[in-house]
Amino acid sequence: MSAGNDTRRPVVGSSRALRCEEARILLMGYLDNELQPDEVRQLEDHLAVCVECRREEQEFRKLGEVTEEMLNEEIAVLDVDDAWQNIYRRLERSTGWLLFSAGLILLGGYASWALLTEFFLNPEEPIVARLGVGAMLGGIIVLLVSIGREVLTKYRGERYREVKQ
Ligand SMILES: [Zn+2]
Repeated sequence: MSAGNDTRRPVVGSSRALRCEEARILLMGYLDNELQPDEVRQLEDHLAVCVECRREEQEFRKLGEVTEEMLNEEIAVLDVDDAWQNIYRRLERSTGWLLFSAGLILLGGYASWALLTEFFLNPEEPIVARLGVGAMLGGIIVLLVSIGREVLTKYRGERYREVKQ
């Protein structure tokens, strides 16, 4: 080690004043707290007398803060909001679909039973009306089954995709 010479850096531990180019190079290490104490002293001496480099330093600090802020915000948004809301939304949709179809089936069942006992099996109602209602009822049941199957397929498809990911 000859007199602490470091060839990677333009400035060697001397007391001479820095030039701006040298100060700018040191500035990076200065902001990252990577400078030797004598380098810090030299740079601070230069910053004390050089408005240009001082402005540069402030720009860099501001830039660093803004970048860090943006990164933090992005991470927060990605982590908490996006991931959670994605899961929540998916859960919500599946639950919504299941509740909806369950309700539909219950209502359909109840309506069918009510119609069957109150109307369809009532000999006082005309046969044509009973046939018409019977056909409608059959149609509704077919539609319900079809919707239920679609919901189930959709639900299974989502589960499958989740597993695949
Ligand atoms: Zn300067």
